[in-house]
Amino acid sequence: MTSLTYPQLPESCLVVLIGASGAGKSTLASTWPASQVLSLDALRGAVSDDCGCQEATGDAVDVLHLERRMARRKFTVVDATNVTRSAREPLVAAAKRHGMPVIAVMVATPASVCVERQGPRPANRTVPADTVRAQHKAMVHSHPTLLAEGFNEVLFADSLYQLLPYLKRLSEKRTADLGLDGGEGLGDLLLVRRVFGEEILPLWRWKPGSDVAGGDRVAEIRLGQQYLTLALRTNVDGEGDYGFDVLLPCPHDDECPGYAWAPADSITCLFRALNGDLDTSEDIVCTVHGGVDDVDQEADDHALQALRETVGSVR
Ligand SMILES: [Zn+2]
Repeated sequence: MTSLTYPQLPESCLVVLIGASGAGKSTLASTWPASQVLSLDALRGAVSDDCGCQEATGDAVDVLHLERRMARRKFTVVDATNVTRSAREPLVAAAKRHGMPVIAVMVATPASVCVERQGPRPANRTVPADTVRAQHKAMVHSHPTLLAEGFNEVLFADSLYQLLPYLKRLSEKRTADLGLDGGEGLGDLLLVRRVFGEEILPLWRWKPGSDVAGGDRVAEIRLGQQYLTLALRTNVDGEGDYGFDVLLPCPHDDECPGYAWAPADSITCLFRALNGDLDTSEDIVCTVHGGVDDVDQEADDHALQALRETVGSVR
């Protein structure tokens, strides 16, 4: 058995993670750039539309992907249980065909922990406890035969030094986002990302010159025919606090010429704004009708007229 005290993975090799479901393979895999990780769960999902479907192997797809990467001598991590020899054989064979070293990394988390971790997963990702224990047993039994199967090295995940490169990569991304690497950075999109998440950024467009928010910056999130209009507020709960409002239909009057805004501080607010859940929100403030409390005094026509004039001058 080859053992390395300070395992430095070769720049060019195939790393095969081996461990039961719930062992933490995907967490470990995420310490490498996503482009270097072949998640067989994901590929199997592409074939079967159900990542948890353990029968849909999609082997042809897996090996084709792997084969291409091996041919280019690309560092590749295979993230899958790989607890059986038959699952590992095509992986080892693909690496060998291109003269790439193959390294087994055992993710030997105790079976009880693996079973516990099945709890919070989506239903189609949950593996039955018996299956997890069987996978764990198969992983342990695999250990003595891995070198004979063609693996050049057999390591335990515990012996890896992946936290440092992981943090380095995350730190570089953050530096780039902030524009501290000399690039443009995300700029004012940083706030958008913090509030609504990374996935919204490609849909986000600032609308320069729009006056629907009384002079505050306006943005749109659009996908096809559906969209939301947002305003960046710079004095939420006092000077200097930033936040977003989302534009909703006026709850008081279908024909209202004003703009009805409600605070939007999460992706859930955006979802609820689009599906109509916020249409009757008490947080809505209309530029004509005001907030919920103001409408109680609506009978005062003079006040309303005065408000209209104020709004008119803001526009
Ligand atoms: Zn209104």
